[in-house]
Amino acid sequence: MSWTVVGQQPAVKALARAVADGRVAHAYLFAGPLHTGKTLTALQFAQALNCTGEEPPCGRCRACERIAAHTHPDVEIVTVGGLCDEGEHRHAADERDIRICHIRRLDRIVTRAPFEGRCRVVIIEPADAMNDPAANALLKTLEEPPPRTVLILITGREEMLLETIRSRARRIAFAGLPRADIERALRDRWDVEPARAAELARLSSGRLGWAVAALHDERMMQQRAEALARAEELAGASLTPRFAFASELGNGYTRDRARVHALLEVWQTWWRDLLLIAAGRQDEAVLRERLDTLRPLAAQCGVPGAARALRALADARQQLDENASPVLALEALMLALPELRPNPVADRLGAGPRRGG
Ligand SMILES: [Zn+2]
Ligand SMILES: [Zn+2]
Repeated sequence: MSWTVVGQQPAVKALARAVADGRVAHAYLFAGPLHTGKTLTALQFAQALNCTGEEPPCGRCRACERIAAHTHPDVEIVTVGGLCDEGEHRHAADERDIRICHIRRLDRIVTRAPFEGRCRVVIIEPADAMNDPAANALLKTLEEPPPRTVLILITGREEMLLETIRSRARRIAFAGLPRADIERALRDRWDVEPARAAELARLSSGRLGWAVAALHDERMMQQRAEALARAEELAGASLTPRFAFASELGNGYTRDRARVHALLEVWQTWWRDLLLIAAGRQDEAVLRERLDTLRPLAAQCGVPGAARALRALADARQQLDENASPVLALEALMLALPELRPNPVADRLGAGPRRGG
């Protein structure tokens, strides 16, 4: 089988060469957008390191099979809500952080030799979820790397990691995939009919993993449609409804961070399309089916307005990451988003821009 990751040739090449040359680092940082194959690559790297077949990762030997099935005793995934060493802890998957108790368990595990494989692999995902005590504990582990162990830190937001951690790991960059590669992979590997494959590839923004998840989960497409409708509605709304939504969204943030970030990500797509259209690059827009709605809005906000919205969205996401008050961060976003009139007829009648709120 060998490596089956779609795209990501530079990453795969670097890792395959490290295995072949016996020059594997103690720690790796897999950095790049979510849903682009980082976790699959980490598992295949673990297979390559433990494979007993002829062309590692062969995918057929016992080690390869057990790693693929997540049952290999020497391959550990440390994640939010995962196992820890404190018997009385009950971690849930909707927690926010990877904590020090998770890293202590990791430390205990890596002091023993691998059970049956040649090399123990510990995957920390998402590494940016480690809170400060956990990150500092991990730093100690990285300073004295345990033998026959490879740590893989996976992150979509490497800027959130301590510089001291980043500098001790070999960085492997992952990139969003070209639309055509995603379309072809969906058709050839997942048997998706061509029209659907084309649509999902277009909506995926370079993330094959998103497209595959959307195949199996109707809600993802529905949530996306709702987020787009909301972006459109709020762009034309005054501050009162904007603040009402900011407070609803902000108050739910601690319960469901992923949902808020997914929504803001869709808004980023929406505003990026306005920017592209305003800049005369409509061919690159993602939301093809909405071009008729987007064109007049893009004409109103122009490149500067759309650019301001994108900056505000990036700021808001960063502030949420840095534990600012979610409601305040989202209110600041609402203040910064340009206010657009949904009905461009007013322009032709000579009405001035509506300033509300
Ligand atoms: Zn194998
Ligand atoms: Zn714990």
